[in-house]
Amino acid sequence: MIAKADLPPGADNKPPDGLKPDGGAYRVLVVDDSMFIAKQLSQIFTSESFEVAGTAADGAQGFERYKEMYPNIDLVTMDITMPVMDGVTSLEKIMEFDKNACVIMVSALGKEDVVKKSLLAGAKSYIVKPLDRKKVLERVVSVLSR
Ligand SMILES: [Mg+2]
Repeated sequence: MIAKADLPPGADNKPPDGLKPDGGAYRVLVVDDSMFIAKQLSQIFTSESFEVAGTAADGAQGFERYKEMYPNIDLVTMDITMPVMDGVTSLEKIMEFDKNACVIMVSALGKEDVVKKSLLAGAKSYIVKPLDRKKVLERVVSVLSR
Protein backbone atom coordinates (compact mmCIF):
# COMPACT_ATOMS: atom_id res chain seq x y z
CA MET A 1 0.00 0.00 0.00
CA ILE A 2 1.21 3.47 -0.80
CA ALA A 3 0.92 5.84 2.13
CA LYS A 4 0.21 9.53 1.68
CA ALA A 5 3.64 10.46 3.01
CA ASP A 6 5.34 8.39 0.29
CA LEU A 7 3.71 10.37 -2.48
CA PRO A 8 5.05 13.69 -3.72
CA PRO A 9 3.19 16.65 -2.20
CA GLY A 10 -0.08 17.32 -3.97
CA ALA A 11 -0.21 13.88 -5.61
CA ASP A 12 -3.44 13.09 -3.82
CA ASN A 13 -6.46 15.27 -3.22
CA LYS A 14 -6.03 15.61 0.53
CA PRO A 15 -5.14 19.03 1.87
CA PRO A 16 -1.52 19.28 3.04
CA ASP A 17 -0.88 18.32 6.68
CA GLY A 18 0.46 21.79 7.44
CA LEU A 19 -2.80 23.63 6.89
CA LYS A 20 -5.27 24.32 9.70
CA PRO A 21 -8.99 23.75 9.13
CA ASP A 22 -9.30 27.50 8.47
CA GLY A 23 -6.66 27.27 5.71
CA GLY A 24 -3.84 29.03 7.58
CA ALA A 25 -0.47 27.32 7.95
CA TYR A 26 0.69 25.83 11.25
CA ARG A 27 3.70 27.86 12.41
CA VAL A 28 6.69 25.81 13.50
CA LEU A 29 9.90 26.62 15.38
CA VAL A 30 12.77 24.23 14.64
CA VAL A 31 15.42 24.07 17.39
CA ASP A 32 18.52 22.07 16.44
CA ASP A 33 22.28 22.64 16.46
CA SER A 34 22.70 20.42 13.40
CA MET A 35 22.15 22.42 10.22
CA PHE A 36 21.60 19.15 8.39
CA ILE A 37 18.73 18.05 10.67
CA ALA A 38 17.22 21.56 10.74
CA LYS A 39 17.23 21.64 6.95
CA GLN A 40 15.72 18.15 6.72
CA LEU A 41 12.91 19.08 9.11
CA SER A 42 12.30 22.38 7.31
CA GLN A 43 12.01 20.57 3.98
CA ILE A 44 9.56 18.02 5.40
CA PHE A 45 7.46 20.82 6.90
CA THR A 46 7.43 23.16 3.91
CA SER A 47 6.59 20.25 1.57
CA GLU A 48 3.33 19.90 3.52
CA SER A 49 2.64 23.64 3.66
CA PHE A 50 3.67 24.18 7.28
CA GLU A 51 5.33 27.54 7.86
CA VAL A 52 8.79 27.26 9.43
CA ALA A 53 8.46 30.59 11.19
CA GLY A 54 11.67 30.32 13.20
CA THR A 55 14.82 28.34 13.73
CA ALA A 56 17.31 28.27 16.61
CA ALA A 57 20.66 26.54 17.04
CA ASP A 58 20.63 25.97 20.82
CA GLY A 59 18.17 25.68 23.67
CA ALA A 60 18.62 29.22 24.94
CA GLN A 61 18.02 30.70 21.49
CA GLY A 62 15.05 28.37 21.12
CA PHE A 63 13.45 29.69 24.31
CA GLU A 64 14.07 33.31 23.20
CA ARG A 65 12.57 32.66 19.77
CA TYR A 66 9.56 30.98 21.39
CA LYS A 67 8.86 34.06 23.51
CA GLU A 68 9.28 36.37 20.49
CA MET A 69 6.90 34.31 18.38
CA TYR A 70 4.33 33.69 21.12
CA PRO A 71 1.34 33.41 20.73
CA ASN A 72 1.72 32.88 16.98
CA ILE A 73 3.37 29.50 17.29
CA ASP A 74 1.78 26.09 16.97
CA LEU A 75 4.62 23.62 17.26
CA VAL A 76 8.27 23.29 18.32
CA THR A 77 10.66 20.52 17.30
CA MET A 78 13.34 20.35 20.00
CA ASP A 79 16.68 18.61 19.61
CA ILE A 80 18.07 17.19 22.87
CA THR A 81 21.85 17.48 22.66
CA MET A 82 22.83 21.11 21.94
CA PRO A 83 25.46 23.57 23.15
CA VAL A 84 24.71 26.46 25.55
CA MET A 85 21.41 24.96 26.74
CA ASP A 86 20.19 21.40 26.10
CA GLY A 87 16.75 20.60 24.74
CA VAL A 88 15.26 19.30 27.98
CA THR A 89 16.14 22.50 29.85
CA SER A 90 14.78 24.59 26.97
CA LEU A 91 11.57 22.51 27.02
CA GLU A 92 11.21 23.10 30.77
CA LYS A 93 11.59 26.85 30.28
CA ILE A 94 9.10 26.91 27.44
CA MET A 95 6.55 24.90 29.47
CA GLU A 96 7.00 27.26 32.40
CA PHE A 97 6.35 30.21 30.08
CA ASP A 98 3.42 28.57 28.23
CA LYS A 99 1.85 25.51 29.80
CA ASN A 100 0.00 24.83 26.53
CA ALA A 101 3.15 24.74 24.41
CA CYS A 102 3.27 21.97 21.84
CA VAL A 103 6.83 20.61 21.83
CA ILE A 104 8.06 17.46 20.09
CA MET A 105 11.51 16.17 21.05
CA VAL A 106 13.97 15.07 18.36
CA SER A 107 16.14 12.36 19.84
CA ALA A 108 19.09 10.23 18.86
CA LEU A 109 18.66 6.49 19.30
CA GLY A 110 19.24 5.15 22.80
CA LYS A 111 18.12 8.22 24.72
CA GLU A 112 15.00 6.64 26.21
CA ASP A 113 15.70 8.03 29.68
CA VAL A 114 15.95 11.60 28.41
CA VAL A 115 12.87 11.16 26.22
CA LYS A 116 10.94 9.88 29.26
CA LYS A 117 12.09 12.88 31.27
CA SER A 118 10.97 15.19 28.45
CA LEU A 119 7.53 13.62 28.24
CA LEU A 120 7.14 14.04 32.01
CA ALA A 121 8.20 17.68 31.63
CA GLY A 122 5.44 18.31 29.10
CA ALA A 123 6.72 17.32 25.66
CA LYS A 124 3.79 16.04 23.60
CA SER A 125 5.73 13.43 21.65
CA TYR A 126 9.13 12.58 20.23
CA ILE A 127 10.81 11.71 16.94
CA VAL A 128 13.88 9.48 16.70
CA LYS A 129 16.79 10.18 14.32
CA PRO A 130 17.54 9.33 11.54
CA LEU A 131 14.44 11.21 10.44
CA ASP A 132 11.80 9.44 8.41
CA ARG A 133 9.45 11.84 6.61
CA LYS A 134 6.40 9.64 7.07
CA LYS A 135 7.00 9.12 10.80
CA VAL A 136 7.74 12.79 11.38
CA LEU A 137 4.46 13.81 9.76
CA GLU A 138 2.51 11.10 11.59
CA ARG A 139 3.76 12.26 14.98
CA VAL A 140 3.22 15.93 14.16
CA VAL A 141 -0.30 15.41 12.83
CA SER A 142 -1.29 13.31 15.83
CA VAL A 143 -0.02 15.95 18.23
CA LEU A 144 -1.71 18.83 16.41
CA SER A 145 -5.04 17.03 16.18
CA ARG A 146 -5.30 16.41 19.92
MG1 LIG B 1 22.13 18.15 18.51
